[in-house]
Amino acid sequence: MSSHHRFEPGTVHLLRLETGSDLVEEITRFAVDNHLRAAWLSFLGAVRRASLRYYDQEAREYRDFTIDRHLEVLSGVGNISMLDGRPFLHAHAAFADDAGAAFGGHLNIGCEVWSIEVRLEQLHGEPPVRAFDEPTGLNLW
Ligand code: ZN
Repeated sequence: MSSHHRFEPGTVHLLRLETGSDLVEEITRFAVDNHLRAAWLSFLGAVRRASLRYYDQEAREYRDFTIDRHLEVLSGVGNISMLDGRPFLHAHAAFADDAGAAFGGHLNIGCEVWSIEVRLEQLHGEPPVRAFDEPTGLNLW
C-alpha cells in the first residue's frame, strides 16, 4: 500500500450545479469556499459538452479531447485533496450519447453543465496532500 489516510465521516452536502457553469470549477469553488480539505463525491446529470483527458502511461502525459455534444452523465466520481496548499478536485466520469454509447475519462476544465446533482461527503482528518510521484509522473497522495 502506497498511502493510507484515516478519516471520520463528516457532513454530506447535496449540490445542484447551475446550467452553463463549469463542472470542475464549480465543485472546486464549493470546496474552497467551504474550506474542505478532504472529501469524496459522486455525481450524475447532463452536460452540454465534455472536456476530458486520457493519461498516456508510456509518454507520461495527458492527451486532451472534447466531445462537443449534449451528453448524459452516467456516473461521476471524484475526491478533494490538497495540491499546492489549495483544495484540488480529481474526478472521472462516464458519459453517454443519444444512442446510449458510452465513453469517459478524467475531467478537465471545460465540461459545461446542463444540470448536475452532486453528493459530496466531507472527511475529517489529516488531508491527503498531492506530491509528484516518480513512477507515474503524476501528483498523487
Ligand atoms: Zn484522473
